[in-house]
Amino acid sequence: MKRFAWRLMALASALTLALSAVVPAQAHYFGGRFPHTAGTWLYLPYTNPLPYVYAGNISQAGSNWYNTPTRLIPYSTTDYSRSKLDFYTGSYGGDWWGMAQNYNAVGKLCYTCTYQWSNLYMNVSTLKYESGSVRTKVATHEAGHGFGLAHTTDWWYSSIMKQGWNGYSTPQRHDVNDVNNLYKYG
Ligand SMILES: [Zn+2]
Repeated sequence: MKRFAWRLMALASALTLALSAVVPAQAHYFGGRFPHTAGTWLYLPYTNPLPYVYAGNISQAGSNWYNTPTRLIPYSTTDYSRSKLDFYTGSYGGDWWGMAQNYNAVGKLCYTCTYQWSNLYMNVSTLKYESGSVRTKVATHEAGHGFGLAHTTDWWYSSIMKQGWNGYSTPQRHDVNDVNNLYKYG
């Protein structure tokens, strides 16, 4: 089955069943990542969602990761068949701000495998009450999940992968180090 069909199935499944799915909690990493050869740039095309909500926050999230000294190069695309990070916005209900669902090459939801793409959800139900800075933080954070980063639970780190609002919308040194360990320079 072509990837686009998998994508639609995955989205339907996500919307009907899995939006309350709990992302596994581990230190630093989920245990999976996009295919990457050490020392090479990893280009990660991302889509902005339809309807065109929070598009500025999402493109800022792409810029935030682009501007880090890592091997990741996010760039915007409208081609869902090629994109690696697919942002969606909607009023999904629940009390969560954002969610990431990572998929392998056969369209199976999987956090510890080799990723083919990630669906990144921005929840208008809650984010409509938040500032633009929070929305940008959430988009940047969910992209981090898409790369394979887990939540940072150690209080002494500044990290975009901490949950909640911590006063910044950009990746911190801890996050850059984690990405560089996952997608190595050489
Ligand atoms: Zn998270």
